[in-house]
Amino acid sequence: MVEIGRRLELKGLIVAAEGNLSVRLGGHAFLVTPAGVGKGALRPRDLLVVDRAGRCAAGRPTSEWPLHRALYDARPDVGAVCHAHPPWATAFSVAGRDLDGSLLTETEAQLPRVPLAARAQPGTEEVPAAVVPWIRGHDAVLLGSHGVVAVGPDLETAFARLETVERLAQVTLLAEVAAGRSGLCPADLQALLRSGGQLPDP
Ligand SMILES: [Zn+2]
Repeated sequence: MVEIGRRLELKGLIVAAEGNLSVRLGGHAFLVTPAGVGKGALRPRDLLVVDRAGRCAAGRPTSEWPLHRALYDARPDVGAVCHAHPPWATAFSVAGRDLDGSLLTETEAQLPRVPLAARAQPGTEEVPAAVVPWIRGHDAVLLGSHGVVAVGPDLETAFARLETVERLAQVTLLAEVAAGRSGLCPADLQALLRSGGQLPDP
C-alpha cells in the first residue's frame, strides 16, 4: 500500500492528501490509508486497521471509508479499493461524460465501459449510494465532478485499473482533438482518400 501510494503521486494521479486505498484483510478487518496524509510519503506505521464500522485503535481513517465499505459489501470478490483524482478522467467526470472502453483494443475486454456515477458530497453516504449501483457490473467508476474509484482482487490490480482508466480518458480526448482538427467526419475522410485529395462538392 505504501508503494501504491507512492506511484499514485509519482504518476500525477493525486496531489496533496488526495486519494485513499484499502485492502480486505479477512473477517471484518481492513487495512486503510489515514485521513489527511499525503499518500506519496506514507510509512507502514501510518496505515490503519479498521473494522467494518471504520473504528480503529488509534488515528483517523480516510473520510471515504463509507464508500470503501459499501464496495466490499456489494462485491464479495473485491479485495482492494483504489480511489484517486487523475486529471484526465476527472475532467470527463466534471463534463458529465462516461468513458467508452471499446475505443481501445486494450480496454474493450477488461473495461468496456467506465460509467459515471451521480455527483455526491465527498465523505458522505451520498457517495456509496451513487456508486454501488454501477460497481456491481463494472470494475471502475467515474465519480461525478470528483475522480475515479477502481476495485480488484488485490491492490495492484485495482491500481492498474485506475491507471488504465486515466489512459483511456487521455487517449479519448486526444483522439477527439485529432479528429476535430481534420474537420471531417469518417465518411468524408474516406471519400477524400478515395478521390486522391478532391472532395466532391457538398
Ligand atoms: Zn476523492
